[in-house]
Amino acid sequence: MSEGKHSARQTIYICMAIVAAILLAIFLPSTAMKFHLGGEVFLNLLKMMVVPLVMSSVMCGILGMGDVRKLGKPGFYTIVYYLSTTVLAVVVGLVVVNVIRPGVGTVDVDTIAEIREGSSETKDKVYAFLAEKVKVTPTEVADFFGEEEKVEPTIAMILENLVKSLFTDNLFTSAVETNLLPLIVFSIIFAAMLTTLGENVQVLKTGIEQINHALMAFVMLLMKVAPFGIFCLVTARFGEAQSKGELGEIVQQTGWYMITVVSGLGLHALVTLPILLWVFTRRNPYRFILQMSRAILTAFSTASSSATLPVTMECAESQAGVSERSTNFVLPLGATINMDGTALYEAAAAIFIAQVIGMDMTLMQQVTIALTATLAAIGAAGIPEAGLVTMLIVLNAVGLPVEFVSLILSVDWLLDRFRTAVNAFGDACGAAIIDTTFPEDSDPAPSET
Ligand code: ASP
Repeated sequence: MSEGKHSARQTIYICMAIVAAILLAIFLPSTAMKFHLGGEVFLNLLKMMVVPLVMSSVMCGILGMGDVRKLGKPGFYTIVYYLSTTVLAVVVGLVVVNVIRPGVGTVDVDTIAEIREGSSETKDKVYAFLAEKVKVTPTEVADFFGEEEKVEPTIAMILENLVKSLFTDNLFTSAVETNLLPLIVFSIIFAAMLTTLGENVQVLKTGIEQINHALMAFVMLLMKVAPFGIFCLVTARFGEAQSKGELGEIVQQTGWYMITVVSGLGLHALVTLPILLWVFTRRNPYRFILQMSRAILTAFSTASSSATLPVTMECAESQAGVSERSTNFVLPLGATINMDGTALYEAAAAIFIAQVIGMDMTLMQQVTIALTATLAAIGAAGIPEAGLVTMLIVLNAVGLPVEFVSLILSVDWLLDRFRTAVNAFGDACGAAIIDTTFPEDSDPAPSET
């Protein structure tokens, strides 16, 4: 069977697994929750690959070019691509939320008054929830987001933090924490050094390339169990929500908000990104979506761009025919800093909260939201619900009350899956577009399957 047909069959199996998983969760939630072990094992297998794969692929990319200076032009275009698509995503989010206005008249006055009255308790609950997501203490979250006399985070502070996050004093700590940015910086510098050391380090260079190929083979093997792993992940999480009665609650209370965010994400993934892809590469964008479908579905199931990275790399290279020289850089970096879905979501959620409390956002405030949502998305880690945490930066920047995040907590785990799928797809489009900017004498792209 050809590779293309095999992958199409795999995609169909994964889709069937997701549908079956949701049905099982709705009708037999307690049985569905029993599958959590399979889901955790699959997720851990994916996550286990991330650090070695990122380091070896980035190093391989530099070694393949033979000279780090050749990265200049594609590197510049990569950053331009990330920033411009994130800003475009935010604009789509702002337009959709201003047109649909999901926060106007959808939340009853009593609920709003209740949140206002118990504002400090609700705030504590929000901080506790977010702290659990990012594994820090609620006080640390509260401190970071400028409670009372503490300093409010400014754009300069956010930028400073971004710069700091590029470097580490301990590579192993970064690896343990799956903190990818400093590992990428180290890998670029290390491989660049290797290219200057000639024959003396030939064994090391060949070794790095072989590790990279072995890891990619491992990912392909993992994809064979993906339908089952994804089934377990999805059914266990949806089952948990169903058993807590959250699924019904979500539809009733936050239906319009969900429709708004999902429509915005859909517009960005099915219109904005495809247009860019077609303009710059002349590829058929919808065929590209099919080629990347296993990565998109894995992102939906894991809610983590980092955990999905191995699959994104595999699909981009072996299905979509994007060259290794591009995927090796664009995808690891993209999984960490390019989050179109998250940025769109943060902007839309902030305006939603403003609409609920009846606060009119001026054009200037909407521009501030756009700017901070872009930075907050860059700063968000590629892990489940990280975007909800960095969203507090956006709320603080325009003076929106943090306690109203409680309105969207129950639906966030679900929306997270949609935005992560868009994040992974945005990275893949970036890899295909940046592929066209490499110098002529770099490795040619493998033929499209
Ligand atoms: N879960 C998202 C990701 O991994 C980040 C977020 O928006 O929460 O890409």
